[in-house]
Amino acid sequence: VVEIVNAHKAYGANQVLDGIDLAIAKGTVTVILGPSGSGKSTLLRAINHLERLDVGYVAVHGEPIGVKRHGQRLKELPERAILKQRAKIGFVFQNFNLFPHLTVLENITEAPVAHRLKSVSEARRSAENLLARVGLADKAEAYPRQLSGGQQQRVAIARALALEPELILFDEPTSALDPELVGEVLSVIKDLASTGTTLVVVTHEIGFAREVADRVIFLDRGKIVEQGTPAGVLDNPSTPRCRDFLDKVL
Ligand code: ATP
Ligand code: MG
Repeated sequence: VVEIVNAHKAYGANQVLDGIDLAIAKGTVTVILGPSGSGKSTLLRAINHLERLDVGYVAVHGEPIGVKRHGQRLKELPERAILKQRAKIGFVFQNFNLFPHLTVLENITEAPVAHRLKSVSEARRSAENLLARVGLADKAEAYPRQLSGGQQQRVAIARALALEPELILFDEPTSALDPELVGEVLSVIKDLASTGTTLVVVTHEIGFAREVADRVIFLDRGKIVEQGTPAGVLDNPSTPRCRDFLDKVL
């Protein structure tokens, strides 16, 4: 479903993405690993056009995201069109990013109602189902600050699911959590993987990668240095940089 073609992005002299080509098949789980500053978040953000590429593009179902072909060049789409495309791609952030002044239920119903995908009552019903799915049926009326980090992150996942995305991007979804809360969030993500939603997950949770990923990508200095099955990359890395990195995180 996702195709990343020749992605380049620089901040000044800092070449953050240096020619990324990647095709992600429908229903697969891709885990992206790499040292801090290697460009993982930038790559993920480029997929839904939160970050604009200097060169190259991302296409979902063959449709370029955020841009339109204009002869040889790519032209930025109007903001409205970008928002519409982005609504089909879920994004789960490290720090949950829930709306603090809205209840859990309102956090989940906000987007589908705003995008006019569902009526208020339909959105509520579907939010209740999603909350049950992430194990938080009893928290609909709570406010984010009344929840643990793990619970907030599960609400954030339910919120992403509310738009029925075909693709969900996770940027270190468990790295802001206390260790004892990591498991509950990973198990919700694992559950999603088994339902056939396409997932791209930036994480340092090697156990999760080993168990759930179809493919592991190792990024270093804006380049894909290594990729393959979890067993191939994690147990048998062929580059010293990937080996060094794994020695540090394991
Ligand atoms: P981490 O594991 O720490 O989250 P990362 O692999 O996600 O790292 P990115 O956030 O993609 O790395 O950042 C890659 C590089 O781009 C870093 O050197 C960072 O300082 C730089 N960078 C990211 N965003 C900006 C920005 N808005 N302006 C300038 N430089 C930026
Ligand atoms: Mg990052």
